[in-house]
Amino acid sequence: MAVTRARPDPEVGALDTSVYRVPTDRPEADGTLAWSATTVVVARAHAGGVTGTGWTYASPACAVVIEDQLVRVVTGSDPMDVVGTHEAMVRACRNLGRPGVVACGVSAVDVALWDLKARLLGLALPELLGRSRGAVPVYGSGGFTTYDDATTTAQLERWVGELGIPRVKIKVGESWGSDQHRDLARTALARRVVGVETELFVDANGGYTRKQAIRVGRRMSEDHSVTWFEEPVSSDDLDGLRMVRDRLDVDVAAGEYGYDEPYFRRMLAAGSVDCLQADVTRCGGYTSWLRVAALAYAAGIRISGHCAPHLHLPVALHVPNLAHVEYFHDHARLDPMLFDGLPPLAGGLLRQAPGAGALGHGMALRQADADRFRVG
Ligand SMILES: [Mg+2]
Repeated sequence: MAVTRARPDPEVGALDTSVYRVPTDRPEADGTLAWSATTVVVARAHAGGVTGTGWTYASPACAVVIEDQLVRVVTGSDPMDVVGTHEAMVRACRNLGRPGVVACGVSAVDVALWDLKARLLGLALPELLGRSRGAVPVYGSGGFTTYDDATTTAQLERWVGELGIPRVKIKVGESWGSDQHRDLARTALARRVVGVETELFVDANGGYTRKQAIRVGRRMSEDHSVTWFEEPVSSDDLDGLRMVRDRLDVDVAAGEYGYDEPYFRRMLAAGSVDCLQADVTRCGGYTSWLRVAALAYAAGIRISGHCAPHLHLPVALHVPNLAHVEYFHDHARLDPMLFDGLPPLAGGLLRQAPGAGALGHGMALRQADADRFRVG
């Protein structure tokens, strides 16, 4: 018997944006940047009475890019042809330059379109994409350089004890690598708190020089069993990353500032990383993240989802070469303040929201609660 399905609405009827600013729970900094709030730009695509939702953690300028450049491309497009619309969005922004604000805007819209497509088809996104695994491992991520020891300890204990996460990451490279003694003391503290069984990662956000990264990384590896060294030097220094990778046993990771596919190809071609990071809210949404994962797959390299843990779930379930997804403190904290339908975390694993009715990525803006943070 022939299978039939309701024909989805043939056109995306509208695309809207909104901007929210959520203060952090305390001052935060990594090796090379400090911040006190997170801005979330939400894009919603509508078709046939159904809404798809995407977002990026970036500048309010993303909303301007979406309104000025992308609305006219997306409106009237076929919601089944997300990849074609993605390409049209990228081409429409040629003269603006893709990296940065533009790519973040494209990412939010691309995620909204994938969510919309799955919902129109009556499917959860992991069903539409297909799965390689039943759940996604995460690592706890925060450990900001601004934290005192008590705050660091409480955060680590919550990840490992309360949430059952077997891997954690702290920030190092404080003040552009000028306080490596405190970096080492905080790494020692983290190891004491999480015990010997938990994997310990560090992220310097490009704060060290090449030789400094090798010296500090060796101490962290040999004395505190650190196994992951993220951006030991600037992620623009592909040779430097490769040098650190060759000289230390720790895994070197980078890729969070990748805003287009060629960036990741160059990073892989230079042999700069043991694990490639990519962010669905920056790199071009689900469409580009899946391509980046395929590039890594072809190079025999695993991929890790940078930040945005809940949004990464559908594509993280899909790709066979997933390492893990970053359970970043800011986003883990603010997503429940703005959105319904978040995937549950248990035993260090993110899973699809339970229930047969969960469609798309399962999440939607909770407007009434979000409005108190609205700035655009
Ligand atoms: Mg990082």
